[in-house]
Amino acid sequence: MQALILTDIEKLEYASCPKPGPEEDEVLVKVRASGICGSDMHAYVGHDSRRPPPLILGHEASGIAQIGGKSERVVIDPLVTCTQCWYCLNGHSNLCTSRQIVSMEPRPGTFAQWLAIPERNLMTVDDNLSFEQASLAEPLSTAWHGVKLAQEHSIRPLQSARILIYGGGAIGLASALALKYLGCDNIVMLETNSKRIDLLAQAIDIEVRNPSTDNTVHEADVILDAVGSSITRKNAIDSISPGGVLVHIGLGDAEYGFEPRKMTLAQITVVGSYTYTHDEFIEVVDIMSRGGFGKLDWHKNYALSEGPMVFKQLLDGQADAIKIILNPPDSE
Ligand SMILES: [Zn+2]
Ligand SMILES: [Zn+2]
Repeated sequence: MQALILTDIEKLEYASCPKPGPEEDEVLVKVRASGICGSDMHAYVGHDSRRPPPLILGHEASGIAQIGGKSERVVIDPLVTCTQCWYCLNGHSNLCTSRQIVSMEPRPGTFAQWLAIPERNLMTVDDNLSFEQASLAEPLSTAWHGVKLAQEHSIRPLQSARILIYGGGAIGLASALALKYLGCDNIVMLETNSKRIDLLAQAIDIEVRNPSTDNTVHEADVILDAVGSSITRKNAIDSISPGGVLVHIGLGDAEYGFEPRKMTLAQITVVGSYTYTHDEFIEVVDIMSRGGFGKLDWHKNYALSEGPMVFKQLLDGQADAIKIILNPPDSE
């Protein structure tokens, strides 16, 4: 099969490699669409020690699989969990002690024609969603989980909270869409890439500001940090109101940035948010197919073979959509 292989830092090769052989509980998925995630970019530039080359990246995918003797359109939950540990049995499958993630050893990623994965990781997709739209289920689930945590920890209803989102990439945008779905209106998003700000204006009706040219301080009761850098962490703690919640989703850098005295004095809740549970993934696919997250038209697709060029563009901040999706060739 053809795949996009990370062979070295900032080096991707579109090459042929062996088609995976499914294990006993696994099925083969013919990948039709696979989104590029911020974490793929981190691995590409060598900032993700969990994803050293050589490796096939990609984990936001949809495709076709044989289920119960029938050919079905499916979306892939890329978190393979044990289903048996305390976390799996108590509704926290994202924290499974033997969790595996597609695009991290030992599981190759979805920038390939085929993927072997347990059948329980596949959800069938309604015909009203394209493969590209279906592949957005993964970033939408990541955002949904963060928003659910905000809801759980906020001392006021989210609908009456002032909400601030750092970062207008797919997770920031998906968080805003999830918040809108829940009836929240008071949302401000901060994004520094002016090209992205233009794209956001077409994707969602919220206030987007550029903090590099506009230093208004936005006091907020709930903050979702979809960047996760020392600067956003510092600004978040500065901007948060007493009793506020900061949901930390981005994996930007590992510098600290927090001001712990304010955390104590204003009784701030800081909560890390990582991926989503399998149940949340199912919930998101359902909301998507009912149109709850809008038109889901903030993506653009390229052939998988164009991957090396597309990653370079993304690195230069020149992406022409919030989410870039790669389509493997439709051959055996
Ligand atoms: Zn992702
Ligand atoms: Zn488990």
